[in-house]
Amino acid sequence: MSQDTTNGAGQTRRVVLKISGECFCLPNERGISMESVSLLASQVAAVARKGIQIAVVMGGGNILRGGQFKAVNTGIQESTAHYMGMLATVINGLALQDAIELVGQPTRLMSAFSMDVVAETYIRRRAVRHLEKGRIILLAGGTGSPFVTTDTAAAQRALELSADVLLKATKVDGVYSDDPERNPQAVFYPEIPYEDVLKQNLRIMDKESIAKCAEHKMPIMIFNFRSKGNLERAIMGERVGTLIS
Ligand code: UDP
Repeated sequence: MSQDTTNGAGQTRRVVLKISGECFCLPNERGISMESVSLLASQVAAVARKGIQIAVVMGGGNILRGGQFKAVNTGIQESTAHYMGMLATVINGLALQDAIELVGQPTRLMSAFSMDVVAETYIRRRAVRHLEKGRIILLAGGTGSPFVTTDTAAAQRALELSADVLLKATKVDGVYSDDPERNPQAVFYPEIPYEDVLKQNLRIMDKESIAKCAEHKMPIMIFNFRSKGNLERAIMGERVGTLIS
């Protein structure tokens, strides 16, 4: 039986997928591992082949996070460090673009700031058109402004592209009451309201992005991308990881 690729309103399902930088490298390493990128690419392409519209927002933490870089480098302005972080997301986007096209799915890399030689500048209506034509769009450069993270960019894009859900691919299984690596008593939440994530200060996404999604009732699903098939299940509306709504 073929899977239903429509949302509740009978339209083609559209998702924004936030992929953290840590998914672009090997566990406990930095930089880019094409092995990891290929794993992402094959999962994203498999879902696009079913007719789901996918916009990917790449993180850059595998290369550089502005706040952390500034903290150990006094000779740089904090804004500059954040722009460096935004550029890191473009590097990840280029790698992911080639990996997805290698497995046969068309893509467009779009950047929040102009980088004409390697990416189209993000224009919402053009992004929608690409999605309607079945192209996977790779949204680099975060919001284009310093002092926020790509989680905020993902929430922003999910809202303006009228996505059905914001999916966040991470290296953990979902939301826990505490860091499960440090606290074996940490409780796993299969679902949790936005308000509780904010109240309990659960650091799964930045607060601004959760608050934005709460305000506009955009559901968020947090899941472990390394478990095979999870991405597909999450996109097809199955419960994997944690649903924040
Ligand atoms: N960044 C920014 N504005 C944005 C998005 C990202 O200044 O709209 C910078 C910020 O310094 C951030 C870095 O880019 O730390 C990399 O993004 P992020 O930390 O979100 O990557 P992830 O943790 O998802 O790998």
